[in-house]
Amino acid sequence: MVLRMSHLTPYNWSISTRLALWYGLTLFFLLSLFALFCYTNFHNSLHRDFDRHLTHEQHELMSFLQTEGPEPLLTLDAAVQPIAYQTEGIYATYIRLLSPEGEVRYASPNFKDHEPLPVALERQDDMFSVSRTWEGDPARTRYTPLRNASEDVIGWVEITGFEWSLHEELYRLRRALIAGIAISVLLAIGGGYLLAQQALQPVVEITEAANNISAHALHQRLPVAFKVQDELTHLAQTINDLLERLERSFLRERRFTTNAAHELVTPLATLRGEIDLALRTSPSPQKIQETLYTALNDIDRMNTIIRSMLQLSRADKLREAPAEAVDLSALCLDHLDRFRDRAEAQDVTLAFTAPQQPLPSATGHRDTLGKVIDNLLDNALKYTPPGGRVGCRLDMREGRLLLTVEDTGIGFTPDDAAHLFDRFYRADNPDVQAQPGSGLGLAIAQATVQAYDGTLTATSPGLGQGSRFVVSLPRYA
Ligand code: ADP
Repeated sequence: MVLRMSHLTPYNWSISTRLALWYGLTLFFLLSLFALFCYTNFHNSLHRDFDRHLTHEQHELMSFLQTEGPEPLLTLDAAVQPIAYQTEGIYATYIRLLSPEGEVRYASPNFKDHEPLPVALERQDDMFSVSRTWEGDPARTRYTPLRNASEDVIGWVEITGFEWSLHEELYRLRRALIAGIAISVLLAIGGGYLLAQQALQPVVEITEAANNISAHALHQRLPVAFKVQDELTHLAQTINDLLERLERSFLRERRFTTNAAHELVTPLATLRGEIDLALRTSPSPQKIQETLYTALNDIDRMNTIIRSMLQLSRADKLREAPAEAVDLSALCLDHLDRFRDRAEAQDVTLAFTAPQQPLPSATGHRDTLGKVIDNLLDNALKYTPPGGRVGCRLDMREGRLLLTVEDTGIGFTPDDAAHLFDRFYRADNPDVQAQPGSGLGLAIAQATVQAYDGTLTATSPGLGQGSRFVVSLPRYA
């Protein structure tokens, strides 16, 4: 079997594994530091204890030292000498008296069966201790200087004992510390792994649920009812909100496509039927002309719908083009002029009002905002019976420019108001259905205005009571 090394690299480790290893390593590092500190302290304290024991032995010994005579310090009391320190083995204390140069002048009898112990005087002039191995066992020697009245070193007392119990204690402590650290680290890694797995369980569930969501199953949602409410729950909730928006926009697009297809199918079918009839019969030249006019009307209608759809799809792109300063007064007057003849023909009064002082420029593009004004004026004239009035007013409120188009026309119901800006929506009202239109004009106007961070709102007191459309645009900065 070929071992694939790439699967073993830390980059491929799961988050649970990495977290658990991190806990484990951190704990190992901290516990090791702590253990080292304890061990060193314990080690030093045991040595100090042993030194105290050796010093005590040395004090005991001092009373037997002959401090007078030709070689005053280097012999024990003659009576004590043969029996002194005859204890043997690892519990024994070994005594030697040394000259200032380190020559052995006296060695306690228990030295005799042992390997020679090297003298470890190292140009010291005060008491000191040395740890070393003697005959394979740890031994500690304490050297104490002996001084005359004028404080000159005239010899040394060397006391040695085996430190086996101390080393036994240290060994036991080492074993306990290593076992403690190993168990704690293993527990931390195991526990950390389980905890991380439990904490990340929602991720597994979210991933599985997300894998099952497709364009055909956008109604599905990620699970959010986990045992713990944490960042992952918020993430799932946020993704669910996103799915909600996606589903809505997906449904809107689907409805739009269906409506668009429906809108185009009708004139196409009429067109096809008329051409088919003309081909199967032998129509008179006048009939042919009538057929061609109807065909032209159908083509115009389809053309309008397709252009509107294109315009709608481009509305979002408007955000990307840098906005210009648009003089709304001049723009309104210009576009109102284009409707004057039609208003006159329909016997509708067309009025324009604006404040005396010049208004600041609005943010947008002249041509697209011009199309918004055209759409509002066109609707107002379409849905206002003869004798009515259409007014276009400009205002400035709370730093924004307001363009109001109001009429005394057919108005609309609150139900209609909720759908007025939906694509292809046309009120189910004979006065509306009698007029040409695709139901895309207001949707395009709204999308255009929103691209400039503006709003378009529609209000009406009720059917037959006129309507008011207000465009609010930010002033050009
Ligand atoms: P269209 O006018 O081509 O039908 P619009 O998107 O411009 O499409 O308008 C959508 C609908 O809003 C219209 O069908 C009509 O029902 C309603 N509407 C628009 N303008 C007015 C108005 N000035 N008065 C009454 N109803 C209006």
